[in-house]
Amino acid sequence: MTFELPTPPPLSRAVLDRAAELRDDQEMLTKLLDGGRLLVLDEHFRVALRPGESTIAWLDAAVAGSRFVSFLGYDGETAYWACRLDHEALGDEVEWEHLRVAGSLLDDEEAGLFATAAGLLAWQQRSRFCTNCGTRVDLTKGGWATQCSGCDTEEYPRTDPAVICLVHDGADRVLLARGTHWPRSRFSTIAGFVETGESLEACVRREIHEEVGVVVSDIRYLASQPWPLPRSLMLGFAAKADPAAELNFADGEIAEARWFHRDEVRAALEAATIWNFGPDPEDAVLPDLILSGRTSIAHHMIRAWAFSD
Ligand SMILES: [Zn+2]
Repeated sequence: MTFELPTPPPLSRAVLDRAAELRDDQEMLTKLLDGGRLLVLDEHFRVALRPGESTIAWLDAAVAGSRFVSFLGYDGETAYWACRLDHEALGDEVEWEHLRVAGSLLDDEEAGLFATAAGLLAWQQRSRFCTNCGTRVDLTKGGWATQCSGCDTEEYPRTDPAVICLVHDGADRVLLARGTHWPRSRFSTIAGFVETGESLEACVRREIHEEVGVVVSDIRYLASQPWPLPRSLMLGFAAKADPAAELNFADGEIAEARWFHRDEVRAALEAATIWNFGPDPEDAVLPDLILSGRTSIAHHMIRAWAFSD
């Protein structure tokens, strides 16, 4: 059995030209600021949306005043920028939404711009000092680099690769796991960060064995999606395992894992009983299976598998 994702995951739909060649052209960047469109994030990296609409509340770039604004791209007519502002600056004219919700509501261009802005501005917040000598750094290249005045080191936004794998039996069952802090019916695919010196395939084998104790084969790449808060790139795979193999949750990250039949997964997807990282309502009657939210690559991998022939 093979299956593919029918469309890219929500945050992998970026279409705007990043125009990286302009990042070093300060004169051009200054010129493009005039009439540019500004994407605003709040202190939690939530985006400003138009109230009641699934579209970004774009501001005139001039609103940023003397603040540093980061260059997101240029479509040949308009340049796109991002910065953080507090709620008072925008008042009641906007609604604030997190990436994991807005990511699947926005159109291709806006979803890509939000993901990029969130990742870039989150990196800037954590990169105020040189990792070589500890001197405070300056932002350069339209926000895409830092420059140290002490030792001249230049640094760029990092991305941490993480694998996420849908484990199936080659037929009608999928192995889903529940994290120790998740609500009791919430299950998803298994994920983990790639370690130094490790290939993606080796990471898939190691993570699944560590977390649920099974050995996988037939590892196959599916798709990737940035998850920029804080700075991950999720690399989606499928792999096969034997449902008769004993499960073991030795590393403590997984509370339980179960093989679900395709019909159960389809029913959960159709009931849209997804979970968006909210608290577990202790006394609520939860359905048997709650899957990851629509912005996650896990949701799209599970959906692609569940509805494949
Ligand atoms: Zn330095």
